[in-house]
Amino acid sequence: MYHSVAPLASPGDDPYLVTVTPARLDRQLGLLRRCGLRGVSVGELLAAHAAGRSAGLVGLSFDDGYADFAEHALPLLRRHGCTASLYVLPGLLGADNVWDVRGPRKPLLDAEGVRACAGAGVEIGSHGLFHRALPDLDEEEMARELRESRERVRAITGVAPAGFCYPYGAVGPREIAAVRAAGYHHACAIDPGPLTGRYALPRVHVGERDGAPRLALKALLHPIRRRPVPRAETVDAGRPA
Ligand SMILES: [Zn+2]
Repeated sequence: MYHSVAPLASPGDDPYLVTVTPARLDRQLGLLRRCGLRGVSVGELLAAHAAGRSAGLVGLSFDDGYADFAEHALPLLRRHGCTASLYVLPGLLGADNVWDVRGPRKPLLDAEGVRACAGAGVEIGSHGLFHRALPDLDEEEMARELRESRERVRAITGVAPAGFCYPYGAVGPREIAAVRAAGYHHACAIDPGPLTGRYALPRVHVGERDGAPRLALKALLHPIRRRPVPRAETVDAGRPA
């Protein structure tokens, strides 16, 4: 789970620890490749998982749709033969990370930028309209965040997004039911515990301090700290009406 990829003037520049420098991402992707692994989109990873072919694949996700994804992350992904999923906020395109009150302002991709990333083979998913925690919303507002963001991504890329990503990783049974009902195929969480499944995929935060030893430790601990995603659930590709 990545967010922003940009040079850092000082560590104090990044109070939410959401920024990885291009040099660090370059080394992390290089490490993956040397370990015989390849970064792919979450959709590709799930399809491979359902078919029993996910060995050697790592799902790479970039949340929020920062403009720096196109500038810094995409060229590195290409250089290392990787793809990724980018979770965008159609209500804030061309704006910035208004929800991070303390953080430095980081511009978000506009519609044209999102379209260009999709054209470059990046899987575009929805992160909701305005980066609001779904559990804080009533049924109607939650449904709007899910359905309208999905419609707007479809209008930009020509493809209805298969994936959703819960803002702040905030998810419960009510949110899972709503994401499913809105027509998504899967959704990314962070530490969903007993809710782990196709609609609450666990992810590991990767940051600027993650060199080879820390990444190896995270890879080792991930299956211990988080439940594996059951394969039977990913085989069922049937979508609700
Ligand atoms: Zn986010």
